[in-house]
Amino acid sequence: MSSTETKTTLVGLSKTQLRAWVSESLGEPAYRGTQLARWIYEKAVADFNAMSDLPAALRARLSEVAIVSPNTISLTQRSKDGTVKCLLRLADGNEVECVLLPYEERVSVCLSTQVGCAMGCRFCATAQGGYTRNLTADEIVDQLLHLQRLSERRISHVVLMGMGEPLLNLENVIVALHLMHDEVGISYRRMTVSTVGIVPKIYALAEYDLPITLAISLHAPDDETRARIMPVNRKWGVDVLIQAARDYFEKTKRRITFEYLLLRGVNDTPHHAEQLAAKLKGVPCLVNLIPFNYVPTPDDFQRPEALRVRRFREILETAGVETTQRVERGHDIDAACGQLRGKHRGKPLPLALQAR
Ligand code: SAH
Repeated sequence: MSSTETKTTLVGLSKTQLRAWVSESLGEPAYRGTQLARWIYEKAVADFNAMSDLPAALRARLSEVAIVSPNTISLTQRSKDGTVKCLLRLADGNEVECVLLPYEERVSVCLSTQVGCAMGCRFCATAQGGYTRNLTADEIVDQLLHLQRLSERRISHVVLMGMGEPLLNLENVIVALHLMHDEVGISYRRMTVSTVGIVPKIYALAEYDLPITLAISLHAPDDETRARIMPVNRKWGVDVLIQAARDYFEKTKRRITFEYLLLRGVNDTPHHAEQLAAKLKGVPCLVNLIPFNYVPTPDDFQRPEALRVRRFREILETAGVETTQRVERGHDIDAACGQLRGKHRGKPLPLALQAR
């Protein structure tokens, strides 16, 4: 057994829990826990020796009994546009993707919530690897902390759009959102949770009444098309999903984002756009169009031509539906969902990483 296995992991503990831990386990004054929380979450420091306002003896003791995080970055890819995509290797050897997206006016991160995914969306690379397990709250937050270490600027926005279905891991996701708000200091208004459309969990999320943004991956205006690309639609169809979005707005007063992935010849015709506009009439929402990020799939999906995308957008806007288009990032580094892990999987890890 390596020595790290007996050490206490600190990431995931709140300030209050860290205060209790330092006094109960180390016999130190509680304010040392507050200092630790600041280093771990606000400054994203994982090395006790760098925690300069702690006495040297305490830093040494901490190194003996605790680690900030047992997870390590096993692969980093930097795009010319500034996007950094990472694989985080978890203590049990599983790997998840997370992405740093620096823009002029903000720095976003895209985080995973599960190892793999059980939803089986036909166009998604993560789906092809199947589902392994939920991430813990600390594994979700730790992705952000690792990405913060790679960014000179402070992370301002969080989207849960990496691997997995956040609403099927709701309890841990809520704890992670609380930690990112309370300890890291990110406003709820700058957090987005994206779902495939697990209707009962949308109602459950609404009960927490957090001012986060809910994004719903709609991707089609009718059940037939949607069920073809998203098996989850057989359980909750388009109409109950849109009703859930309306109810979510009524409860939280937060406008819904509908994600709409455009697949050539599948859901990108003017007729689909008209149907979508009709369905969303009167729903307080924004539609975000996402041209398909190519990944090899059994259906061999392709992205539509730019003209098709423009026409789709025009129809929505003419009908009064506010529409944006996802800015494409990191094309040169496999930034499409699930691609990186897909490529990395099966290759042996460098020995230095295996040993940790
Ligand atoms: N399970 C959640 C969040 C993770 S997926 C959800 O479904 O919303 C994040 C977003 O990426 C979803 O809108 C998903 O449909 C989309 N997506 C998946 N594969 C994609 C691809 N190849 N190209 C573009 N977007 C994709």
